[in-house]
Amino acid sequence: MGPAGASTAYELSQLGMSVVAFDKQVHPRYKVCGGGLSARITRILPADFKTIVDGTVYRVQFNYGGTDSFILEFPRPVAYMVMRQTFDQWLVEKARQAGVEIREEESVVAIQDLGDGIEVATRKGRYRGRVVIGADGAMSVVAQQCFPGREVGNIPALESEYHGDTSHAFQDTQTVLISLQAAKKGYGWVFPKEKGLSLGVGEFVRGGNRPKRSFGDFISHESALAGLSIPSPLAHPLPIAHSPAYRSDYRWAGSLVRDRAILVGDAGHLVDPLLGEGIYYAVRSGQLAAASVASTLRDPRHRLEEYEKNAEAEFGLEFRVASRLGAIIYGLPRSCHWWAGRAFPDAYQRVLRHYCELLQGRETYQTLWAKILQRLKRPFGCSSPGR
Ligand SMILES: Cc1cc2nc3c(=O)[nH]c(=O)nc-3n(C[C@H](O)[C@H](O)[C@H](O)COP(=O)(O)OP(=O)(O)OC[C@H]3O[C@@H](n4cnc5c(N)ncnc54)[C@H](O)[C@@H]3O)c2cc1C
Repeated sequence: MGPAGASTAYELSQLGMSVVAFDKQVHPRYKVCGGGLSARITRILPADFKTIVDGTVYRVQFNYGGTDSFILEFPRPVAYMVMRQTFDQWLVEKARQAGVEIREEESVVAIQDLGDGIEVATRKGRYRGRVVIGADGAMSVVAQQCFPGREVGNIPALESEYHGDTSHAFQDTQTVLISLQAAKKGYGWVFPKEKGLSLGVGEFVRGGNRPKRSFGDFISHESALAGLSIPSPLAHPLPIAHSPAYRSDYRWAGSLVRDRAILVGDAGHLVDPLLGEGIYYAVRSGQLAAASVASTLRDPRHRLEEYEKNAEAEFGLEFRVASRLGAIIYGLPRSCHWWAGRAFPDAYQRVLRHYCELLQGRETYQTLWAKILQRLKRPFGCSSPGR
C-alpha cells in the first residue's frame, strides 16, 4: 500500500466499509521517489501530517541554461519534503487504526470476476469481495488483468539518496533546485532532506530517453553537488497520464473503472505529465474512489463509473494542459530557455512564479495557461480586458 491504497482503504473504512488490503512488502519500506509534496496536499491529508514532514520548502531555485539560475521565494510553503518510508507507514497506520485489515508480504497474483463478486488470489490464499481496487503502482497486476489493452505511458525516472552533510552546498532545507538543464526532455531535481538530499532526473517526452546519461551529466555538472559522493541511482517507471495535449474530445472512458475493478494512483496512471507529481493524485484519487465505492455498494442507483467521471472532471483538463506545457517546455532546446531567461527575465520568472503558486493550490493549470496566453498576446498589441 502506497499513498493511493492507504488513502482509499482509510476513507472506505471511515465510511463503514469492510476492507482487506494487501501489500507485497512490509512497511516501512523504501520507495524510489523524490518525496516532494506540493503544499496544496495539506488540504487533503489528515491534520497531523506535519509531524512527519522532513522539510518545508519556501524557495525554488531554477537552473535553466549554462550557469544561469534564479531563486523564487515565497512567504508561504511551496512544498513539503517527506521520506517515503515514513510517509507511507504513517498513512498505512491511519488505515489500520480506522479498522482496515492489512496483510503485508502478501502479493496479489490473480483477479477473477465471479459475476456477483470478485476473487483475489494472493501467494497465500484466496479472498472474495464486491469490488477490487488496484492501488498497486506503476506495474499494477490489477490493471494488467482487469484492463487489458489499456494504453500505458511509463517513462523511466531515476532517483538517488545522499545521506550526509550538505551544509556547504545547501544553506538550509528550505530550497529545492529544479534544473531544466539536467535532462534533454525533462528536468533534474535536488530536494533537501533533514539528513541529506534526494536527487534525480525524469524525462517526460517519450522517445530517445537517456535518463542514466542525463543523471551522470547532472551530478557531474551541478555545482551544488560538487564534492559529494552520490550513490548510483535507482530506476522506477513513472506512469504519466495519457492526456493528448490538443485533443479536447479525448475521454478517459474505461481507463479507471471496468466492471468491479477500479484503479487509483499510479495504477491508474494518475501522474502529472509536466512535473511527474504523483503523490497528490494518489491520495486524492483514493478519496474519490472510496466515496464512489461506498455509495455504489450502499445504493444500487449509484455506479462505480462515477469515480472515473469525478476523477476526469478534477484531473482531466488539468493533465491535458500540463501535457501541452510539457510539450512546449521539454520540446524546446535548452538554449531556448537560456535565451528566454536572458531576453525576457521578468516574463520567464513570472510564469515560473505562477507555477509555484499552482503547487500552493492558488493556481490551476487552466488559470496558468490563460495567463500565459494573455502574456503572449501583449507584445503584439492585443491588450486583454481589465488590464
Ligand atoms: C524517481 C521518481 C521520483 C518521484 N518523485 C516524486 C515526487 O517528488 N513527488 C511526487 O508527488 N511524486 C513523485 N513520484 C511519483 C510517486 O512516487 C508515485 O506517483 C506514487 O508513489 C504513487 O503512489 P501509489 O500508491 O499509486 O503507488 P506506489 O507508491 O508505487 O505503491 C504501490 C504499492 O503496491 C504494492 N504492490 C505492488 N504490486 C503488488 C502486488 N502484486 N500485490 C500486493 N502489493 C503490491 C507495492 O509494494 C507498493 O507498496 C516519483 C516517482 C519516481 C519514479
